[in-house]
Amino acid sequence: MGMKNLSRFIPLVLLLMLIFTLCSCDKSFSQKENINRGKSEETELASSESSLNSRDSLTDLNSENNGSKTIANVPLTPYPYTKLNSSELPDVVIIVDDFGYNGKLLERFAQELPAEVAFAVLPNLPYTRKAGEIASQYGHPVLIHIPMEGTGVQEKQCIKNNSSADEITALLDDFYAQLPMAVGANNHQGSSVTENREMMTIILDWLNKHNLFFVDSATSKNSLAQSLAYSRGYPALKRDIFLDVPDDTEQTLANKISSLNKYQGRREPIIIITHCHNEKKLSNLQSFIREIRSQGLHLTNIINAKNIAA
Ligand SMILES: [Zn+2]
Repeated sequence: MGMKNLSRFIPLVLLLMLIFTLCSCDKSFSQKENINRGKSEETELASSESSLNSRDSLTDLNSENNGSKTIANVPLTPYPYTKLNSSELPDVVIIVDDFGYNGKLLERFAQELPAEVAFAVLPNLPYTRKAGEIASQYGHPVLIHIPMEGTGVQEKQCIKNNSSADEITALLDDFYAQLPMAVGANNHQGSSVTENREMMTIILDWLNKHNLFFVDSATSKNSLAQSLAYSRGYPALKRDIFLDVPDDTEQTLANKISSLNKYQGRREPIIIITHCHNEKKLSNLQSFIREIRSQGLHLTNIINAKNIAA
């Protein structure tokens, strides 16, 4: 091919080059557009995925709630106390807490207090077994005073916030073995454990399996022990008054006596807790019992209260 012939092709080559350039420009433009479109799709996908995920987890949660009655999120109904058409005060149940430390006063508490007064005995203490035996000997109902984690100094062996189901069961088995005469249990401290639905379910189920009932000492306003017991069809008992809180003065005792009036017309007995720490607490309790009896009130056994709340 001569130079003349070759020069004839130059415009054609230029034209081809132009077409090629235009095409690749267009191509790169479309690619850019695709990248942008891709990005927005990715974002959309991500957001739709996340909404899908949240929908899914919501569905899971709902089906869990519907599927099983033991799931923790079903709201609890407070125990419905029965209001009678009466101005009378209900019977009174007294529980004395924290037996097991002291042998000296034990016999006096057991001997001098009416048989209706229940003794709540702590496990793993020097006088645990003796307290259980002496209380029974004098006809007092015995409660296992279950140590649970709270805000104060806790017992060495207690149900802690991080105890596993197996650990809880093993502790309860052990406590019951030390106090086989027990008719029920209440909590020592335990302001955090009694707010924990999962743990309280394990404890209440264990007690029910052993024919024992639970009295919520109500050391926390947020304790759900009573409403949980009620929801599971167990007797639902809760402490109404601490006799020795904030102190053991005459004034406090007088205040507690006048506070009984707010339970007028209630069917369920008034549940009162005090402690066994010293002689003053014994004499205060004796004064309290004398006073309420003089007002025509009756002491009753915790078992009667349990039967009413069952
Ligand atoms: Zn206690």
